[in-house]
Amino acid sequence: MKEKNSSKTDLKSLTLEELTAEVTALGEKPFRARQLYQWMHQKLARDYEEMTNLPKAFRETLQERYAFTAHTLVERRVSKLDGTEKYLFGLKDGNVIESVLMRYQFGNSVCISSQVGCRMGCRFCASTIGGLTRNLLPSEMLDQIYAIQRLTGERVSHVVVMGTGEPLDNYDNLLRFLRLLTDEHGLHISQRNITVSTCGLTERIRQLAEEKLQITLALSLHAPSQEKRKELMPVASKYELSEVLDACRYYFEQTGRRVTFEYSLVSGVNASAEEARELARLLDGMNCHINLIPVNPVRERKYVQPDRREILAFKNVLEKCGKTVTIRREMGRDIAGACGQLRKGYMEKSEQANL
Ligand code: SAH
Repeated sequence: MKEKNSSKTDLKSLTLEELTAEVTALGEKPFRARQLYQWMHQKLARDYEEMTNLPKAFRETLQERYAFTAHTLVERRVSKLDGTEKYLFGLKDGNVIESVLMRYQFGNSVCISSQVGCRMGCRFCASTIGGLTRNLLPSEMLDQIYAIQRLTGERVSHVVVMGTGEPLDNYDNLLRFLRLLTDEHGLHISQRNITVSTCGLTERIRQLAEEKLQITLALSLHAPSQEKRKELMPVASKYELSEVLDACRYYFEQTGRRVTFEYSLVSGVNASAEEARELARLLDGMNCHINLIPVNPVRERKYVQPDRREILAFKNVLEKCGKTVTIRREMGRDIAGACGQLRKGYMEKSEQANL
């Protein structure tokens, strides 16, 4: 695992086995690797200084030879409405990313970014406006959760990869991140408490299915037909809707995990009762869950939410057709809740300051 723009191996992205190989190659005993791993992934150490039971000379060698990631806190906003917290984190190369903490009855859930920016171009999404800057390392995905758990002092039990970026466009790093996050020597988060959301890269969905993990796959559907989907999501031009759904069926066959379909409701675009019927027909016979998201208005986009009545009518049609449907509770609306908005606002401010 090399850090971008650096020839040094990224320590926090290594599995315990890989770390053991590195540490023993340095002439240290294997138990030093376990200690180091525990400092990084359980005690959530931010630097070598904290690792007090490691010999000083060993820490100095590590410092010299390896890259070590840790996010700096750029901004933290707490919602007065529901306790949701939004974080802007600074990376070592100066980029900023955003993460969200949501407090539910079942536990604390963190929504993480998988890339700096995004190249998928979904019309209603703020994260994609500036394009893709780079992939996040496994450690940089972990660090979002680690930093939030450290800052709040509260255990994170659920993780959703639904922040900025397309996780399956950063596949290898995502997989490594998932293995480290669920590892019994780390935070040991249950696979069943993890959701990965994708705009529908079919080959990657099939590949993920074959990993046979117990994570939930969420598919961003947003339209009941190929034509409509293409209007909202440029990626749909590359992947025919029927193939995307086949890949979702395959995911269910391979893992036994029910797929979640996300559907952002946009007034006058995809939210009519007829479209609800079309959606029910499209998903007929599939063991799935539909999550309706009233579209979050983004300043640069003209999309608006349907009113409450229309949203409930949409849900009703689906339920009458036997579908399991939830409406996503809007959280943190007062703190720039929609994907990528906080980061975008921050970048605009810094651009102005540089003028
Ligand atoms: N790239 C992944 C994950 C990131 S977005 C994906 O496409 O699934 C997480 C979810 O939020 C996706 O379903 C995305 O389409 C949706 N989303 C993005 N911007 C939104 C907005 N302004 N309003 C409602 N949903 C939005």
